[in-house]
Amino acid sequence: MTISDTTLPDRSKSQAVMRGLKCTCPNCAEGKLFDKWLKVTPECSVCGEQLHHERAQDFPPYITIMIVGHVIVTLLMMVEANFVWSLTTHLLVWIPLSTAMTLAIMQPVKGGVVGFQWAVRMFGFGDTEERVEQP
Ligand SMILES: [Zn+2]
Repeated sequence: MTISDTTLPDRSKSQAVMRGLKCTCPNCAEGKLFDKWLKVTPECSVCGEQLHHERAQDFPPYITIMIVGHVIVTLLMMVEANFVWSLTTHLLVWIPLSTAMTLAIMQPVKGGVVGFQWAVRMFGFGDTEERVEQP
């Protein structure tokens, strides 16, 4: 059996990503997806779905940086166009705001990535043996 095996039932990508964004199990939406802040639980406590196959790696931080960067730069440009702030004021506003936004969205973004991986049966999510790539 391979990932492209058509005998496996389809999984809704949008539903799995939305469940992941809510930090819940992409399969049942009842169990918690994370044991700790960014540590995915190995197995759903409600439906038993194996979630340890996730390989989100650097993709959630990449998405988070893209989102936070676009929001912060947009706000900064709007402030620069309309107000005269000192450098100290800029530092006191943008650094804490960037940090808070990053901490706030990192977990849901990782949940969404894990949900997508689960939906498209990446890695071991396809109910198949996990492939080990040889260098
Ligand atoms: Zn579950």
